[in-house]
Formats: sequence, structure tokens, C-alpha cells
Amino acid sequence: MADVDLFVIGGGSGGVACARRAASYGASVALAESSRVGGTCVIRGCVPKKLMHYGAHFAEAFKAARGYGWQPGAPRLDFGALLKARNDEIARLNGIYLGMLERSGVRLIAGRATIVGRGDWGFLVEVAGERIAARQVLIATGARPNLPPLPGIEHAITSDHALEDLYEQPRRLAVVGAGYIGVELASIFNGLGTETTLVLRGDKPLRGFDEDLRTELTEQLAGHGLRLRPGVAVDRLERSADGVRIVGSDGSIDADMVLYATGREPLPNTRGLGLHELGVNLGPTGAIEVDASYESSVPGLLAVGDCSNHGGAGLRPARFDLTPVAIAEGRSVAERLYNDRRTRIAYETMPTAVFGVPQAGSVGLTEAEARAAGHEVLIFRSRFRPMLHTLSGLPDRTLMKLVVDKATDRVLGLHMVGEDAAEIVQGFAVAMTVGATKADFDATVALHPTAAEEFVTMHQPVAP
Ligand code: FAD
Ligand code: NDP
Repeated sequence: MADVDLFVIGGGSGGVACARRAASYGASVALAESSRVGGTCVIRGCVPKKLMHYGAHFAEAFKAARGYGWQPGAPRLDFGALLKARNDEIARLNGIYLGMLERSGVRLIAGRATIVGRGDWGFLVEVAGERIAARQVLIATGARPNLPPLPGIEHAITSDHALEDLYEQPRRLAVVGAGYIGVELASIFNGLGTETTLVLRGDKPLRGFDEDLRTELTEQLAGHGLRLRPGVAVDRLERSADGVRIVGSDGSIDADMVLYATGREPLPNTRGLGLHELGVNLGPTGAIEVDASYESSVPGLLAVGDCSNHGGAGLRPARFDLTPVAIAEGRSVAERLYNDRRTRIAYETMPTAVFGVPQAGSVGLTEAEARAAGHEVLIFRSRFRPMLHTLSGLPDRTLMKLVVDKATDRVLGLHMVGEDAAEIVQGFAVAMTVGATKADFDATVALHPTAAEEFVTMHQPVAP
């Protein structure tokens, strides 16, 4: 006889969403969290990052204001004040999460949980010296930064440190890795006045995004004063007299601090959970392999979010390591188990944005993906100076691009670099989810004067 219907391991986006939804249908639920409830997103991910992004953005706003007649003098950043305000907000959100769990009747247990046994009745979970029998277990343990095994790698910090434990602003920062986190954190520190270098092993940031978006972003990051060092293979890190030195194929780079943003892997968080002993199938990076119902190879043991392969969904499962995806998957599990309702997640039109300065946003297929999938495509592209910068005098440009299937007229992909890209792409993702065609875009009346209107006023495809 089980003590609870559902035991959730991990109190981040996916775990909390599933636990609360399950409890709302009358299931008895316990949830173990080894750190702070809220998980990566709230404590050391999306939220602190976005608050810092807003903070960094003022640098540009102060510059732009001069073109509008403002004489703001020379504003000075109080880094400590920014961190205090950010941390207070995170503490507030953490409190809200704790309150939500309590009100929904989920039993929260502080500690690292392990599955120690299995029987016909379900699973035995051990946490904080207690053993709890559960009919079903949901694993939502997230992922951790992946550090390549280089000599001196212990001198590097990760995004966890940068967003949770950093109290002094570095004067010089080198960021290695140019995916989401590399671009976002390099942009933040650059905007806040740190001399920042983004070190790439490839030629452009954001591999996997549309090529036009990558090219535009590369140019504009540099335009904002970020130093880009492409094509660098790092050999080792060394302590130097005043910081850390990156020694690589392209000479050396000196900084006060080196931040590694070279991807995240679920491996450490799926290790030590008792999965091996149970015979749970894991993918090459340690992600728990689950089917479209988020069931692992062991019946009754489920997994959602960053620790899973997202049900093997779609073209690019690693690109689905996002908060709304973890939440949707967690809720989907609860709906199926306790409300007899099956939900389908629209992975293929999941919008995503990189909060750099400038922002980049995408939904659907890149041009290369569309062609590789056999579509004959029409490309609509517009690059322009947004109205804000006609007076600001700043060199910022906006890029918008549509990838349209010639045969069906369906808009397969929508990509943008520029101010408010994230907000704009979210809106258009609705249209993409319901299968909008280019004719639907053309039939939509523009909202003037905005940058977003360009998406519904591009009439001429560009030459192939
Ligand atoms: P997590 O939120 O990581 O939660 C897992 C929880 O499990 C953690 O709290 C951990 O302490 C706990 N845990 C692990 N092992 C155990 C155990 N054995 N017992 C008990 N507890 C355990 N996504 C976006 O959509 N937008 C963004 O802007 C964005 N920005 C990001 C910025 C950064 C710097 C990072 C790192 C990530 C960002 N993400 C963003 C991704 C997003 O944070 C994750 O996709 C999301 O948090 C995944 O949720 P999850 O529930 O799978 O795991
Ligand atoms: P990404 O996979 O986005 O990027 C990793 C980067 O590191 C790539 O540029 C990659 O280069 C580079 N890299 C990998 N290994 C090495 C190495 N050994 N040496 C040098 N460079 C290397 O991972 P992130 O860590 O940036 O982000 C992890 C995930 O977190 C994202 O995939 C996303 O799901 C989520 N996230 C989402 C955010 C958002 O929604 N705004 C923000 C932050 C994170 P290459 O391209 O050559 O492989």
C-alpha cells in the first residue's frame, strides 16, 4: 500500500507544475527538493537573468535618450544595489512557490531523494532519512552546467555562480560558449560596463538558429561593444597575476573571470537517483528516455523537463530545455494520470528567444531546416532601422524573416533580431500554432507605427 499517489523529485518548473496540478485532482503528492523550490528558472536561470537583462538594457536607453534631447549626464551603476534588488525579488518568488505548494496540499520535503526500491505497489523513495512508498514517481531533476575536462577548468565559473553567488562586478570577463547562456550573460555584463569577450569555437553564436539571424546578431553584438573571438579552441585555463588566462589556438585572453557556458547536461542530476539499479533507459547524455506520455522504460516512473528527452519530441529535443516546456510536460502528466485527459504539446511551434542585447527570437523551422525537410520555400526578409533609432542615432537594426512553404503557403518559420523580439515572436507563435499561411499574414491589418507590423507587410520574396 503506497503512502502517496505521486512522489515528485525536483521542485523546479516541471516538478512544481505537475505536483500542484495532480493535487488539484485529489491525488496525494509529496515533493522533494534538495536546494530551493523554484528550481533553475526562478533561482539561477530565467528570472535573475531577465532582471539583469533589464538592468543592462538601461545602458542603451541612456545613450538613445540623448537623441531625444535628454541630457542624462553620466549615470553610474551600483552593482550591489542591482544584485540586492534582484535577490529580494527571487526570495519573494521563492516564498510564493512555497506558499502555492502548501495551499495545494503538496507535502514538501527538503532533501535529495533517491529511489531505493520497487514493488507491485510502486516505488520506495528515500529522502531526509524517511522512506515513502509512492504509486508513481515523477523525476524532474533538471540539468547542470557541463564543463569540458580541460586543464585549469576549476578556475572557471558557470551561470549558476554568475547568477547566484557573484557579489562583485568583474572589470574584465571572458565568456566561453556562444549558445543561449553565453550570448545572454555576455550581453548583460557588457551592458553593465564590464569589458566582455565572447569566445566562440565556431564562427557565429547560436548554432542551430537561422543563419540570417546568426549573422545579424553577430554584427549587432559587436556593434554594442562586445568583443567576439571566433574560432578559438581553448587548450587550458591558468591563474594569472590578476585573474584567469585562457590559453587557446588563437593566443591567450586575460580576464578577471572566465565564465563557461558550454551547454547543460542532465547526467549529474540523473546520477545517484537509483535509476541504474531500476534499469531505466538513459540517452547518451544521461537524459531519461521517455515516451510521448513521459513514461520511462520502467512503468510508473515518469520524467519531464531538462532531465528527460522530452518524449523524443520533434527535431531538436535539446532545444526544448525551456521552462514553459517543463511546465507543460509536468501538467500533461498530471492531466493524464489524475484527470484522464490527454494533452498535446505543440513542440514544433514552440517560440524561443535569446535575451541578448539585441534580442533574438524564433518560432518554427529555420530556412535550412525547412529545405532539409524537402520544402520548396519562399523567403521574406526585411532589415531596417527601427523608428526609435532614427533620433537616437544608434546603429541598431532590426531583422525580420519569414520562411514560407511554396506549395501550401504555410508560414514554416519566423525569425527576428531586434528590440522586443521576444515579445513580438510570442504573439506570432499563436498564428503559427494554428497553421497561419502567408495569405493570413497579408490579410492582417498592420498596427502602425510599430516594428512588428513589418511581419505583415513583407510582400516580395527575396531572390533565392
Ligand atoms: P529545474 O528547474 O532545473 O528543477 C530541477 C530541481 O530538481 C532543482 O531545483 C534541483 O535542485 C532539484 N533536484 C535535483 N536532483 C534532486 C534530487 N535528487 N532530489 C531532490 N531534488 C533534486 N528557459 C526559458 O524558458 N527562458 C529563459 O529565459 C531561460 N533562461 C535560462 C537561463 C539560465 C542561466 C539557465 C541555466 C536556464 C534558463 N532557462 C530558460 C531554462 C530553464 O531554466 C529550464 O529549462 C527549466 O528550469 C527546467 O525545469 P525543470 O523542472 O526540468 O528543472
Ligand atoms: P547551448 O547548447 O545553447 O550552447 C552551448 C554553447 O557552448 C554552444 O555555442 C557550443 O558551441 C559551445 N560549446 C559546447 N562545448 C564546447 C567546448 N567544449 N568548448 C567551447 N565551446 C563549447 O547551451 P547553454 O549552456 O547556453 O544553454 C543550455 C540550455 O539552457 C539551452 O539549450 C536552453 O534550452 C536553456 N536556456 C534557455 C534560455 C532562454 O530561453 N532564453 C536562456 C538560457 C538557457 P557549438 O555551437 O560550436 O556547439
